[in-house]
Amino acid sequence: MPKSFWHSCKPAKVFAFPFLICFFVVVGGTLAQTGSPTRLSDSEVRERVDALIKQMTLEEKIGQLSQLFVFEPTKDRDDAVAKGQLGSLLFLTDPAEINRYQHLAVEKSRLHIPLIFGFDVIHGFRTVFPVPIAMAASWDPSLAIEGQTVAAREARAVGIDWAFAPMLDIARDPRWGRIIEGAGEDPYLGSAMAAAQVRGFQGDYIGAADHLLACMKHFAGYGAAEGGRDYDASYIPDTLMYNVYLPPFHAAVKAGVGSAMSAYMDLNDVPATGNRWLLHDVLREQWGFRGFVVSDANSVKSLRIHGYAKDLYDAAVLGIKSGVDMEMAIGETAFSANLLTAVQKGDLTAQQIEDAARPILEMKMRLGLFENAYVDLPRAQQILSAPEHRVVSRRAAERTAVLLRNEGNLLPLRQDAYKKIALIGPLADSRRDIIGPWVFQYDLKETVSILDGLRNKLGPKSEISYAPGVQIGRKFPSFFDAIFREAKPPVWSVEQAKEEFDRAVRLAGSSDLTILVLGEKQDMIGEGASRESLELPGRQQELLEGVVATGKPVVVIMMNGRPLNLTWASQHAPAILEIWYPGTQGGNAVANLLLGDAVPGGKLPYAWPRNGGQIPIPYAHNTTQAPEDQGKRYWDEDSTPLFPFGYGLSYSSFQFSNLKLSESAVQPGETLDVTVDLENTGNTPADEVAQLYVHQQYGSTSRPVRELKGFERVTLAPHEKKTVHFSLGKNELSYWSTAKKDWVEEPSVFDVWAGGDSSAQLHSTFAVVP
Ligand code: BGC
Repeated sequence: MPKSFWHSCKPAKVFAFPFLICFFVVVGGTLAQTGSPTRLSDSEVRERVDALIKQMTLEEKIGQLSQLFVFEPTKDRDDAVAKGQLGSLLFLTDPAEINRYQHLAVEKSRLHIPLIFGFDVIHGFRTVFPVPIAMAASWDPSLAIEGQTVAAREARAVGIDWAFAPMLDIARDPRWGRIIEGAGEDPYLGSAMAAAQVRGFQGDYIGAADHLLACMKHFAGYGAAEGGRDYDASYIPDTLMYNVYLPPFHAAVKAGVGSAMSAYMDLNDVPATGNRWLLHDVLREQWGFRGFVVSDANSVKSLRIHGYAKDLYDAAVLGIKSGVDMEMAIGETAFSANLLTAVQKGDLTAQQIEDAARPILEMKMRLGLFENAYVDLPRAQQILSAPEHRVVSRRAAERTAVLLRNEGNLLPLRQDAYKKIALIGPLADSRRDIIGPWVFQYDLKETVSILDGLRNKLGPKSEISYAPGVQIGRKFPSFFDAIFREAKPPVWSVEQAKEEFDRAVRLAGSSDLTILVLGEKQDMIGEGASRESLELPGRQQELLEGVVATGKPVVVIMMNGRPLNLTWASQHAPAILEIWYPGTQGGNAVANLLLGDAVPGGKLPYAWPRNGGQIPIPYAHNTTQAPEDQGKRYWDEDSTPLFPFGYGLSYSSFQFSNLKLSESAVQPGETLDVTVDLENTGNTPADEVAQLYVHQQYGSTSRPVRELKGFERVTLAPHEKKTVHFSLGKNELSYWSTAKKDWVEEPSVFDVWAGGDSSAQLHSTFAVVP
């Protein structure tokens, strides 16, 4: 049976997990569930919304189009809700407060229309999961379904109906902090993770019990910000737009995503939020999207700042005309202040307002909010504290880790060999950092740092001593500091810094083994957290060199979202394990991985540059007039990455063989099957990700040297062999040709490679013939 990522995204897989089955019996069976009690058909939804819209005044329809942040309650906002002047609120997480607002909307407003509550449920809610880039590194869409199912269940339990996720921006410049929120550089992997997350959030259908509405964001092209500087303009030619940046969004639409968020930045000089080509032509006309579009925070009002709209009135009109249905804003929306006048003056029609309100009301209807708007408080508490959720989170953390180096099989650690272990690094005992950015409802008491995890695992059998060694921090503060005011430790004096550094190196020298945790604090990555360099921040490189110089074995653990400069480390540190920001159970997962109770099987979702000067360095670049020199384009550094896209080692070893194609030639539209044998040649049960790459040798445009077109994560017992199946058909072989200004599947010769990363050598060819 040919295998593609669509097969692994079937929601049925989620329910195959035994924990979830028992979970639903234990928790779900006893208390009222959220969601629609019955699935409404499209025509039922349409009829009910038609009937409602007939009763609505223009002002009430305009009210549905505004969404405000709530950081604290205000009388004005309460009044606006009671008068039906707001359709949605975001950033509320207290179920009692959500109920209070919902009572105002449902009981006080004339037509009793419920609010829809939105929140950034990005990588978990109370139970924090590995960050999205890590989930992509699992190369396991079923894991993403599972994780977002849990996140949805927790968030929906407190009354959040709508997650501002998945974030689907392809990112090829790791200076951009938001690379951590997406699936990396590749559209095929990105599409698989997109569809999986939509399934996880929304379940089988919008309104499924204990699920919520997903919102794909940021539509579109945000990841190509110039210089990697967050919010800066993107310039993306149509070939990259259609072939690279848009496919994950299209995959989410095909998976039934119910809403989309427009991006902040200018796309080819037209702001994404005022971009009718994006929001109408592509999204609705080409793809048939029937959900609604929300702006990013203040991005309608920002049309003025971009120098696109004349004033806020113009911004509101342009927003609606471009295809924004709901405006997200802080304070007041341009929509609520201007849309009534715009209709009265004839700059917009009443029909345009109704067209924007309709899909919002439809989603509220599908979600069951008209029947069941309130939160069951005891149930919310019960769901948030479900221990089963932490189990899924730990397993996810184990499956997302990527082993980058393991000289002399230092890992897994032989416990008896190391009695005295030094744990060093500023992130090694940080519960706040291990859960990463974009989380707000975490509980640090139930979060496991690496130090906690090692102590849990090793108990008194080993002596573990901890020293941070260095402090790291941003040069400029994060804007989140002003909003969320998380406590920061005091900064060391110069003398203290020297003492701590020396103490850490001494500790390494007097121990049998050092586990050195390097990377970035959680506020150094994410929104508003771009960097100009990929060096290890602060004095971490010096610390690494000092620790390695002791001559004792060193395991480097990387906690980061963007690739950092590991060129020196990859030559001098025997073992490097990438753990990303692994979430609530991160420390326990790391301990399991280090000791061999879990085996790393993740793979890089981006090519890892040697240093920042190589950016961008996507594996799917075009070939050049001197391909044999491809790796020597700089005279001062190789022009290959340090680690290729798709790369990751294991505690076992694998062999690919017997690459077979069912046909040597196909016609456009036909499909061929590809099989490859994969054997675990080692003595450890372990996972390998079989990857399939394709290259079109000639055509109406040049094509990348290789592109991922299939993958499957496979678990194999020692010496077990399996045949992995892929299929190549129209979806895999067609592309947007900028020469033809259309999608084409062209007669050509295609190379095919299969293996464990993007440098795979096992090769074959086939032809597409006219
Ligand atoms: C971000 C979005 C987020 C929104 C609401 C914006 O600044 O760009 O990704 O969903 O805030 O928090």
